[in-house]
Amino acid sequence: MKILVPIKRVVDYNVKVRVKSDQSGVETANVKMSMNPFDEIAVEEAIRLQEAGTAEEIIVVSIGVSQCQETIRTALAMGADRGILVETDQQVQPLAVAKILKHLVEKESPQLVIAGKQAIDDDNNQTGQMLAALLGWSQGTFASRLQLADGRLKLTREVDGGLETVSLSMPSVVTTDLRLNEPRFVKLPNIMKAKKKPLEVIPMDSLGLDTASRVKILKVEDPPHRAAGIKVASVEELIDKLKNEAKVI
Ligand code: AMP
Repeated sequence: MKILVPIKRVVDYNVKVRVKSDQSGVETANVKMSMNPFDEIAVEEAIRLQEAGTAEEIIVVSIGVSQCQETIRTALAMGADRGILVETDQQVQPLAVAKILKHLVEKESPQLVIAGKQAIDDDNNQTGQMLAALLGWSQGTFASRLQLADGRLKLTREVDGGLETVSLSMPSVVTTDLRLNEPRFVKLPNIMKAKKKPLEVIPMDSLGLDTASRVKILKVEDPPHRAAGIKVASVEELIDKLKNEAKVI
């Protein structure tokens, strides 16, 4: 079985994001960028399936600027076999990403796509679902456990108030939740080996797909600053403030 793992290059989760002065988005120039954390979990899960003898090949795909090659190399150093960069300077929205991934699925014929549940930059949580719909495949989102048996996928999902276990037909699109696994650290010799693994670059425009944006960002703003708190002298004063000022009780 082949597994396809889409990985997005996003602002590193440790970086405090800053809104651009023209409010058109967040600042990405001179900011540390990394693999989307949920995609690292997806790569790790694919590698574990390969180590268990269930998968033969892991292909990672990133759609974006030329620097996404670094993100792909990280995934190759973790253990993926080869990478594809669909290169564009354009901002690609989930529907466009899903169409590109569909195209690559048709070309590469994987049995399983493992994506992140969401990219932490735009928090869309749409791509996996759209891809499954476009392909007509089963989908299992927010996976916290994944088992393959008798040609089906047994998947545990984190839902409100508990865990739901579903059985999915293959081929399938799965999206990862935080507790699925803990991604491995990349070892130096593997970084060296990753440099020799194949990485194909395809210009996005050469695919002939309609990748136009369907959503226009009007503006991006910082959240309102939190007002300073106060110390109350007694429980009575607290209750009075909650009742009469905050009006929450
Ligand atoms: P989203 O729907 O944007 O929250 O993204 C969900 C998942 O889709 C991510 O965790 C990635 O696995 C995949 N994805 C989204 N955008 C890209 C991209 N530009 N390149 C590769 N994978 C992507």
